[in-house]
Amino acid sequence: MEIKVVKTDHLKPKPTGALGFGTYYADYMFVYDYDEDQGGWHDARIVPYGPMEMDPASMVLHYAQETFEGLKAYKAKDGRVLLFRPEMNARRFQNSNKRLSMPTLPEEDFVQAVNDLVKFQEDWIPTGEGESLYIRPFMYATEVAVGVHPARSYKFMIILSPVGAYYPEGVNPVKIYVEDEYVRATLGGTGFTKCGGNYAGSLAAQVKAEKLGYTQVLWLDGVHRQYVEEVGSMNVMFKINGKIITAPAGKTVLPGVTRDSIIHLLKDWGYEVEEKHLDIKDLMKAGEDGTLEEAWGTGTAAVISPIGELYFKGEKVQINNFKTGELTQKLYDTLTGIQWGVLPDKFHWTH
Ligand code: PMP
Repeated sequence: MEIKVVKTDHLKPKPTGALGFGTYYADYMFVYDYDEDQGGWHDARIVPYGPMEMDPASMVLHYAQETFEGLKAYKAKDGRVLLFRPEMNARRFQNSNKRLSMPTLPEEDFVQAVNDLVKFQEDWIPTGEGESLYIRPFMYATEVAVGVHPARSYKFMIILSPVGAYYPEGVNPVKIYVEDEYVRATLGGTGFTKCGGNYAGSLAAQVKAEKLGYTQVLWLDGVHRQYVEEVGSMNVMFKINGKIITAPAGKTVLPGVTRDSIIHLLKDWGYEVEEKHLDIKDLMKAGEDGTLEEAWGTGTAAVISPIGELYFKGEKVQINNFKTGELTQKLYDTLTGIQWGVLPDKFHWTH
């Protein structure tokens, strides 16, 4: 893929102080057009970041063909710029796009676009403790038409945002609300994809949880409303009686890159990891009798986020006295150590 560069003299000042999450955007973005009439993908380019003009009848605004990804670039102490398993994001993006009847992007083009844009914007990678450059690739339908059908034209874009911690709590335990009214995904639906619609549908529960003082929602399965699936933007894992349990991913649950990496680490350390449907009643019971030793969420944005409290239908359980567990901390230290190029990368995850 040949990528053209359009330069600007109007560069933004770099942010100073706390970065937050998704507040600042780099000077340049990547854009790639898809037109069925022009034989598919064309005009890959890096251009100054800025607003896009859009026809009001653009199909994404009506039928929501939109998918996205999320990954990070890290600056190592020795100056190397590291990406963490970007090919996993490329493949998940293809699976999302297939499910939404959108064109797919070859894995090597996705990785090249991410790579070249990050390299071009290397000075936007922040270097403070726990800071990184969040990379947001996305695709949406641009065909101007009202009428339900797969669009014939799309844009694929990548924007970059220097970020700090995702949760205001940082690496401290979060409180999670188990949702018993709304549903995120069901078999045959789009649960395994990263499409904007999944997140739009989840907001009502998120707003409800926040009003009650909870950081995120834990989703139960859509049929029985009984089995634990995942949290708003993280997969979840529970350490019960020394064994690790997490929901199977790929159907109703998003196959997280962090989830996969953590499962590899845990198995490497000799832990038994069971990917199974865990009944919420059994989880709450394990919380009450103390066999639920630790719980944490995994995700690119949240990294490893300890879960300190679960609320389900009027009942609350605290996990590990609302303190970060030993294994949770070790997972955080190991994963971030590999991501920032401090620890050996025996699985060859970093690029
Ligand atoms: N589940 C959902 C619903 C998410 O949005 C995310 C964030 N992408 C995750 C899990 C974690 O996935 P990953 O580890 O690839 O960031």
